[in-house]
Formats: sequence, C-alpha cells, structure tokens
Amino acid sequence: MPTDTLTGSCPECETDLTTPPMVQGETLSCPECMLTLRVDDVRGGELSLQMVEVQLRDWGQ
Ligand SMILES: [Zn+2]
Repeated sequence: MPTDTLTGSCPECETDLTTPPMVQGETLSCPECMLTLRVDDVRGGELSLQMVEVQLRDWGQ
C-alpha cells in the first residue's frame, strides 16, 4: 500500500491527524489544540508525535 499520507494522533488532545509525508524532526501544528508537535518517529506510515514546548524567549532586547 502506498503511503502518500501519514497518520498519527495528537498526544495532547488525541485528535487523529493525517499529514503529507514527513520525516523525523519535522514539526506540525495540531489543528485542534494548536500545539506544536514534533515527529519523533515514523514507522509503517504512522507518526509518533511529541509535544514541543514552545518557550517564549524574551531576552529584553
Ligand atoms: Zn491536539
């Protein structure tokens, strides 16, 4: 079966996600909770996603 899309689920809100082919380390935003997710692993057309903690860095400049 060709894998034109990948599937995964958001670790935060458990929304099922379908994405174009991605590679490890890429990031996407969950359309449901708007969280930034990073592709931790791709295996058999399934994405393993991790939350990315976005820290607002204010260096005072
Ligand atoms: Zn989500």
